[in-house]
This record gives sequence, structure tokens and C-alpha cells, in this order.
Amino acid sequence: MTAQPSEPLRLMAVHAHPDDESSKGAGTTARYAAEGVDVLVVTCTGGERGDILNPSFGPGPTSIEGTHELRRSEMLRAAEALGVRQEWLGFVDSGLPEGDPLPPLPDGCFGLVPVETAARPLVELVRAFRPHVMTTYDPSGGYPHPDHIMCHKVAYEAFCAAGDPSRYSGTGAPWEVMKLYYNHDFSMRKMRTIHEAMADAGLESPFGDWIESREAKEIPERRATTRVDVSAYFAQRDGALVAHASQIDPAGFFFAVPRDLEAEVWPWEEYELAESRVETSLPETDLFAGVRTGEQA
Ligand SMILES: [Zn+2]
Repeated sequence: MTAQPSEPLRLMAVHAHPDDESSKGAGTTARYAAEGVDVLVVTCTGGERGDILNPSFGPGPTSIEGTHELRRSEMLRAAEALGVRQEWLGFVDSGLPEGDPLPPLPDGCFGLVPVETAARPLVELVRAFRPHVMTTYDPSGGYPHPDHIMCHKVAYEAFCAAGDPSRYSGTGAPWEVMKLYYNHDFSMRKMRTIHEAMADAGLESPFGDWIESREAKEIPERRATTRVDVSAYFAQRDGALVAHASQIDPAGFFFAVPRDLEAEVWPWEEYELAESRVETSLPETDLFAGVRTGEQA
């Protein structure tokens, strides 16, 4: 199955928790939605084990159920800010294990669900929504949270299996997604570029400690193949971030970079083309390169 000329393009962005869609690839989803692409954000978990990360938020809910409800309402406002649709897979946040040794993951959490079980509702959504392009995280999760690693696994599984009629029977007609991308919005190349530009402008960069600690860990940098210019959508991205009021500190690092400086030195969101079933040439500036009707190479 391929895109028909009359069909709108469709983009599915798969994320681990509510707020991840606003900190990774948010400008891209806002831009494509504004350009008429049907954009669906899929959130694997309810973010029930997220702490209150905004000091000005005040005391938060005291139960998993309370946090679940709070984060649902925040997600609704963030999706409105981006102009996208959003669906939940319905899994429960694993929490970020801390300590040495690390404690076991809580019973029933997303990180402990077998991949085929966890991917099933996503395969069903892919077969119903029929995206041409999907985005998610690289195999490391991009950040070592068990739900981010699991998010990669289920999205990759859905990309591979949704078009195969022998897999996941009972979840709808097969649909072959054309391209799969990994988000790379926290790369060292981005942090260094913005850090240096702020220093040159005589401003205090929020990324000094971050760069030092990342350099010490010597994490290999993954390649970016695709840069989408989203500078016209920074305001929508920022609106989506502040919608997650329990998670995002409006006085924190997300808002420390003047937007005109950001637009000048790093107007993009970056992606790595992980899998493609269409011809394209790298580097790209459009997630739908090779997909748009009449543009196939
Ligand atoms: Zn997350």
C-alpha cells in the first residue's frame, strides 16, 4: 500500500511519557500539522511516576491515580498547543530507578511488559491511523529511562510488524509505514553550538555542567540525517512545554536560551533515518522526502 494522491500525509510520533512530545520533536509536529499533515502523538504511559519537577508548581498529587489525572489534563493542553491529536497506549510509568544497586522495577509497569504484548495496541493504532512516517527514540532510549528504552522497542516492533499480515492478527488490516526516524534533540553538537553562541553573546549558558558530565561519560554521538527547520514554531513548542506545568520549570533550562539566538544558530530539530522503505537521499530537510506523491526518487 502506498500513499494515494488524494490522501493527506500522516505522521505518528511515539513517546514514552506525557511531556516527551513537547521536549523532543515538538516543533516538527506543530509544523507538519500547520502544513496540513495529519499528526498523531502516541504516549505509551501515563507518566504516573513522574515527580513534580517545577519548583513553582506547589505540592502535587499524593497518589499514582492523582498524578495520572493531572498529567492527562496537562497532555490535553500540550496537544492543543501543538495542534495535534494524541492517543494513549495505556501502560503504567516504570519510574526512573535510582540507587546502587538499582531497585527492581515496580510490578505491572511498562518496562516489564513483554515487547509483543506492549506493541500490540501500537500495531493496532498504526493499522488504524496508517502513518507514512513514524518517529521514536534510538535503542538507548536517548536517555536511560526504562520507559524510553521500551518505547523504542515497541515502536520498532510496530514499524517492522504492522505491514505483515501474519503478525498481530485481530488488530486491523496490515499497513506498511514508509520511514522510521529517531529523535535527536539533546545532542552534544546542539548543546555545544548553543553554549558557544551564548558565551559569544555574553550570556550565561544553561548547558555548561550538562556538556561536562556528558563529555565525562563519553557517550558516542549518533548521526543525524535529517534537519527540519522549526524556528517558526518555537512559540508553539514553548506553549506545549509550559502546558506540562508539573514537569517543566518555566524558569529552567528549556527557556534559558533567547529564541532569536536559537533561531539563528539552531533552528532545527534533528532526526536519524533508522529505516526506510522508500528511496531518499541524505541529508534531508523533510521527514516525508521520498514519500510525497510525485517526489519519489
Ligand atoms: Zn519521558
